[in-house]
Amino acid sequence: MQALYIHNTLTRKKELFKPINPEVVGMYVCGPTLYSDVHIGNCRTFTSFDIMYRYLQHIGYKVRYVRNITDVGHLEDEVAGTGEDRIGKQARLKKLEPMEIVQRYAFGFREVMGLLNILPPSIEPLASGHIIEQIEMTQQIIAQGYAYVHEGNVYFDVEKFAQKHNYGILSGRNLEDQLNNTRDLDGQEEKRGRLDFALWKKAKPEHLMRWNSPWGEGFPGWHIECSAMSQKYLGQTFDIHGGGMDLIPTHHTNEIAQSVGCCTHAPVNYWIHTNMLTLNGQKMSRSLGNVFLPVELFTGMKLAANSPSATPSQALLAEKHPLFDKAYNPMVVRFFMMQTHYASTLDFSNDALQASEKGFNRLMESYNTLYKITPEKTSSFDIKKIQEDCYAAMNDDFNTPVLISHLFECARIINLVNDKKETLTEPDIDLLKKIYQNFIEGIMGITREEQSGKSAEALNGVMNLVLNLRKKAKDNKDYATSDEIRNKLQDAGIQIKDGKEGAAWAML
Ligand code: AMP
Ligand code: ZN
Repeated sequence: MQALYIHNTLTRKKELFKPINPEVVGMYVCGPTLYSDVHIGNCRTFTSFDIMYRYLQHIGYKVRYVRNITDVGHLEDEVAGTGEDRIGKQARLKKLEPMEIVQRYAFGFREVMGLLNILPPSIEPLASGHIIEQIEMTQQIIAQGYAYVHEGNVYFDVEKFAQKHNYGILSGRNLEDQLNNTRDLDGQEEKRGRLDFALWKKAKPEHLMRWNSPWGEGFPGWHIECSAMSQKYLGQTFDIHGGGMDLIPTHHTNEIAQSVGCCTHAPVNYWIHTNMLTLNGQKMSRSLGNVFLPVELFTGMKLAANSPSATPSQALLAEKHPLFDKAYNPMVVRFFMMQTHYASTLDFSNDALQASEKGFNRLMESYNTLYKITPEKTSSFDIKKIQEDCYAAMNDDFNTPVLISHLFECARIINLVNDKKETLTEPDIDLLKKIYQNFIEGIMGITREEQSGKSAEALNGVMNLVLNLRKKAKDNKDYATSDEIRNKLQDAGIQIKDGKEGAAWAML
């Protein structure tokens, strides 16, 4: 097994990864709240954990990967724990059952995960399917003295917990600071302390999602679902818990408090947090309204708002999206995300995506060339060393940008050998094929088919048309137009070569 180092939010250090059971890894990642379509920022987080899931399996672990779906309890103000239930609100506005809302967006979510080649988790539990587990955990926390009941609500007593345990262990913030930085209780006077959060909430008469409990009819708080479901499927202490960094100060801090409050020991050994995808430097988020959807990016078109259709791809308007210069292949988007380390912010822009597309095409071209080069008796390169470098990059906290730089080195070598400037032996060519299969396809999850098939056929047709138009321009001595076509294609990454039998084209 490889020595893998992971940056642990809990210790703020890179640590050698040692799972509880030497062969098995338990990993829990906070999934989406399905009250609307997932945006490309959410996808960044799920892509990052997909790569970790793939790599852990690649180096020999059996992984149980649990990624939940939140379908109840996530209120509008998630920090203060106030406002309407996000799914309940959509159900009210659209005059649908909450389950219809969740079903609609679950379809879209899975469609997008499929397009991005994100592997399905081993278990995808719904919060509403685990009400009993959440009630039981809440009862245990009450029995331990860390929660209190007030008129049908159950609150976690943060200050009492903090007398014995470090409430801010994950965020590194001390209680004083957190108390000082939290708003007054405004309207929530039933709470003893301003950091207290709901484990169970009494349902108002108009509230749609409600269940019986020892405290009356109500619904669970958002944080308790992840504690209850991770414990159910992975045990009281498990290896990895992940999610976006935005979840550290509240959701994950409270998850730890609940598990420690219920069972006295810490639930997770390694906390991994992904950084945010930003648009013009601002976090992409549904509450800020600066989101766009993966399907819009993959088609370059705008999605109709409030479409009743079943999946996002069926709801596209034939209208160009104002944010994108063109449509991007989902595999290019995946590659773009991996060119930045998961713990750094990733700013979205057309320029950055176009640069990624060029790099992606170069790498995938070299993949095809690799199967065409002829072996020689000697090798000018140490391919084994490059393979070691690829593993070293991934073992260094899943460092995909460094991995990609090694893969570009492979591409450079392949092109030099193809141009007969350098040589490789047959075993080295085979090793390169193995590196490409393992790292590009297996670990980075980039499929090759997208390059060929229908899209290649369509491109061929379009290029024949363009070359015919250019020939017509030339025949009419309209050299300005024919040059413009050549130059514009060059900018788009397509080179035109004029020969005796007419013009030919190639991807740069
Ligand atoms: P939500 O449905 O908003 O609870 O988010 C689901 C997951 O996506 C969580 O792990 C969030 O931390 C993550 N997430 C939300 N916004 C972004 C973003 N702009 N960039 C990266 N991850 C995000
Ligand atoms: Zn969660």
